[in-house]
This record gives sequence, structure tokens and C-alpha cells, in this order.
Amino acid sequence: MSIFQKIIDGEIGADIVYEDGRVMAFRDINPVAPVHVLVIPKSAIVSVAAAVPEDELMLGHLMLVAAKVARDLGLEEQGYRIVTNVGALGGQSVPHLHLHILGGRAMSWPPG
Ligand code: AMP
Repeated sequence: MSIFQKIIDGEIGADIVYEDGRVMAFRDINPVAPVHVLVIPKSAIVSVAAAVPEDELMLGHLMLVAAKVARDLGLEEQGYRIVTNVGALGGQSVPHLHLHILGGRAMSWPPG
């Protein structure tokens, strides 16, 4: 069971900034930007690579919630980044789909 599943199940705590029946958003425990929030589906899915057509609504909701959370946290005016890592070379360390919202500083491109 992944660490994020334990957060979903309430087994371990998190600094939750948004939650509804399908997704939750909480602050990253090791932030790499002044604002660093993770948005995850409550359904068990390893990454976007594992998504199937039935996940379409959930994926759309995940993106819309990420935009809402960014807006609510005051990131919209100056801009921010949403990123999802996939697999080892993508830099994924937790095998449960998550969007990173990064804001509050200038982002570089390309990522390292
Ligand atoms: P990734 O490397 O894309 O899989 O991102 C996983 C993220 O989860 C990392 O930025 C970690 O800092 C973060 N993380 C790991 N455990 C926790 C936790 N218990 N609460 C909040 N964030 C966590």
C-alpha cells in the first residue's frame, strides 16, 4: 500500500487543503517551492500511464481541482506549474497518481 493510500484512508495525517468524494489535495511534506501541493485521486491508480478510458472523468476532475486549488492559494495571477511524474526516469517516487502544483517562485525549463 502506498503512503498516499494511507493518507486517503486516514491512517497517517496530511496538511489537507482540499477534499471531495473523488480527490484530495495536501501540502507536500518536502516542498521544493514556496507553495507545493499534491492533488491525488482517491481511486487507486499508479500513474497517468495506467489510466484507461473509464478514468477520463476522474482525470478531468483532477486537473480542474488542481486549477481551483492554485487559484484558492493565490497562485493564478503570477502563474504556477502543474506536473505529474511517471516511472523511474520521470522521477516518480510514490506509485499513486499525483499532480504537483508548484508556485511562488520562477520555474526553470527544461526541468533537470
Ligand atoms: P513523486 O516523486 O513525483 O512521486 O512525488 C512524490 C512526492 O510525495 C514527493 O514530492 C514527496 O515529498 C511527497 N511525499 C511523500 N510522502 C509524503 C507525505 N506523507 N505527505 C506529503 N507528501 C509526501
